[in-house]
Amino acid sequence: MDAKIAKVCTSFIDVPNKIAVAIYFSGCSIRCRGCQNKVLWDKNFGRDVTLDSLLEEIKQNELAEYLVFLGGEPTDQIDFLIELCRSVKNLKKALYTGREFEILPIDLIAEIDFIVCGPFREECFVEGRFPASTNQRIFRKENGLWSCQIY
Ligand code: SF4
Repeated sequence: MDAKIAKVCTSFIDVPNKIAVAIYFSGCSIRCRGCQNKVLWDKNFGRDVTLDSLLEEIKQNELAEYLVFLGGEPTDQIDFLIELCRSVKNLKKALYTGREFEILPIDLIAEIDFIVCGPFREECFVEGRFPASTNQRIFRKENGLWSCQIY
């Protein structure tokens, strides 16, 4: 199974207080006005990876507690994303998505522990806020139960 990936790097900020391996997926079909990552809208941007080659890259980071998926829009490559989650047993998973929590596939939700969801809306933008626009929500899973965090 293949995917188009823009970047793999270590992140200290995308999952609060955690070290994560960040995977930036190429392509976004949501296309919010005011998006800061327009270069990643193109699904052909970046490089092809196989599941096995990406798993090898992830293994290089021994300090990470999380795998975090960003973009672009990770859920535009949903089959690969779910397969990747299922293949990495030793890390928790976080997802940044422009889609709402309620419409994410159950097979994906089952694999993820932390989700920042909703499209970026310029009219809801607040400087320095996390997440950046007030319509976006944070969901955390603890002991199998989801809670929505309001900031
Ligand atoms: S979902 Fe994310 S990457 Fe896609 S347009 Fe909106 S802000 Fe940009």
